[in-house]
Amino acid sequence: MELRCPYCGSRSCVNESALSLFLRASERAARYVVKGRDDVDEDPNFRPSFGEVGICKETSKRIWVCPYCHSLIPELEPDGMTARCPECGREANVAPSRRKIVC
Ligand SMILES: [Zn+2]
Ligand SMILES: [Zn+2]
Repeated sequence: MELRCPYCGSRSCVNESALSLFLRASERAARYVVKGRDDVDEDPNFRPSFGEVGICKETSKRIWVCPYCHSLIPELEPDGMTARCPECGREANVAPSRRKIVC
């Protein structure tokens, strides 16, 4: 697993303890989704969320991790409640604080 900052390439921007916590939590969530209902894709409550695992020391931008492919990605512009991973192309929820206000 590549632990490099998606902005500047430095390993020191990534908060490894936040990342390992996130990966453990998302493994549990993935098992739950697999055992869960068939309509997981229709219900945003069953969709996993992007994690935030550090802030780049060079650019002060947030580093996100995809709950599906576990790639470290630059912070995305949310499309309402969700954003699409640039690595695997799947949609995940954006943490509430990062959501745009949708009227
Ligand atoms: Zn960085
Ligand atoms: Zn992904």
